[in-house]
Order: sequence, then structure tokens, then C-alpha cells
Amino acid sequence: MASDSEARLRAASLRVTRPRLAVLAALRDHPHVDTDTVLDLVRADHPTVSHQAVYDVLRVLTDAGLVRRIQPARATARYELRVGDNHHHVVCRSCGAIADVDCAVGDSPCLTASNDHGYVVDEAEVVYWGSCPDCATERTSQRSASSEGSR
Ligand SMILES: [Zn+2]
Ligand SMILES: [Zn+2]
Repeated sequence: MASDSEARLRAASLRVTRPRLAVLAALRDHPHVDTDTVLDLVRADHPTVSHQAVYDVLRVLTDAGLVRRIQPARATARYELRVGDNHHHVVCRSCGAIADVDCAVGDSPCLTASNDHGYVVDEAEVVYWGSCPDCATERTSQRSASSEGSR
């Protein structure tokens, strides 16, 4: 699927380079990963690509609109390829797992401000916080284990 990534780069008038293709491939397989994870993924296949090159590629791709950068409160920035649809995210408070949530209403900005103060609103940033299924299960089993122990 390198040709798909090449087409994206060309459509954004960006030169097709190995680090750029490697970052796009990493994000295609692993959405919502942070910079360090992108680095690990890229360097697993391309050990010669430098840290700085990966940082630069992430910045260039984000600026070009090929990659979306999301930054939930108190979390490190994550990157994903799903751009341009104003979708939202649900974040696990315990482990930081992130999943996509489609817009609540439809097209962006998806939520209508009760008072827009005359602003032209084009994006609504919504983050749902909670426990992912794994963490929720773990918590329930811990709770039942400790209540059994106290009996
Ligand atoms: Zn979790
Ligand atoms: Zn997403």
C-alpha cells in the first residue's frame, strides 16, 4: 500500500521520501500513537532513520493536513491519519488508550454552541474520558477479589 501513501504525499505537493512513507505506514497500522511510539515503529523497519527526521516528518505531515495531531489534557500528543472529519475521541484515564468516536450529530462542527457569540464555529473538540474495556474489567475483578479476601 506504499502507492497509497505516495499518492497522499504527491497530492499534498510533498516529496516522496523513505522517512515520510515509513511514518505514514506506522500511523496506518497504529492510529493514535505518540511520537516515541512512531519512532520505535519506524526504526524497527528503518534503523537508519534519525529521531530528528521522524520529528520533522510528523511536523511536515501535520502542517500539510495529512496527519492529525490530537492532544488530550495531561496526555502526550498523538498522531493519526484520519483527518478532516472532526471526529472525536474516547480516552482511558488509566492506560491512555484512545478510540475514535464519530461526530455526535453529523458534519463538523457537529455540536451547536448554545451561544456562539457571533463566531463562525467550524470545529467542536470533544474528548470523552473513562475506562477502556480492559481497565474496566481489571478494576471489577480487583474489586471482587478484595471483597472475597475480606470475607
Ligand atoms: Zn485502559
Ligand atoms: Zn482518531
